[in-house]
Amino acid sequence: MSVDKTKGEVEVHRLPTDAEEFECNGWTFKYTKSHILHSLCITSEKCKNQSEDKCLLCLYTNCLDLPHLPEMVFPRNILTVIHPNGSKIEFNTLDALKRVCNGKLPIEVACSVAWKESRSSQHLEQKLKPFDWTFSTDYRGTLSNEVQVELTEERIDMELLKQKEKILFYHEMMLYEDELHDNGISSCTIKIVSLKYLWKNVNFFF
Ligand SMILES: [Zn+2]
Repeated sequence: MSVDKTKGEVEVHRLPTDAEEFECNGWTFKYTKSHILHSLCITSEKCKNQSEDKCLLCLYTNCLDLPHLPEMVFPRNILTVIHPNGSKIEFNTLDALKRVCNGKLPIEVACSVAWKESRSSQHLEQKLKPFDWTFSTDYRGTLSNEVQVELTEERIDMELLKQKEKILFYHEMMLYEDELHDNGISSCTIKIVSLKYLWKNVNFFF
């Protein structure tokens, strides 16, 4: 969008977008993003009766083995990296939350005890599994069927990394965040940087 400066308005070169696609050396990088996951199901009859086509909230609640979801979940924030041969690596919120470490980390925030005490024993039996309250995830992306993972002796070219190359494409977006009931913050964010001869993706969890 460009605005006529003769009218004294500020020129705006680029507004934030909800979707973008970029190609470099045969690779395609694209993202979509949208609003936060709503907190109430407004199609409960439909969601109750149909195993498919549930609302996103019911999909997340049913798919994930978590007593509750993070406070901010962005279900439509997706980054896809496509190889020239068509195979893909995708980064999406549902798969990141599926990798939350249930019981693998001995971390509990103070409110977890209060939460357990406030639930009935029946509810706890049904829902409570050892649960990482920090929503830590070891998610490294979702691979399409064509992708095969193999061990390699190849290492990242550190000299190439040190070169000051112009950034051709950059985007950062949040998959989910939780304030841990004021006991800190946990955030899962995806960053993508593409240079002329190199691209790197970083999945930040802090
Ligand atoms: Zn629903």
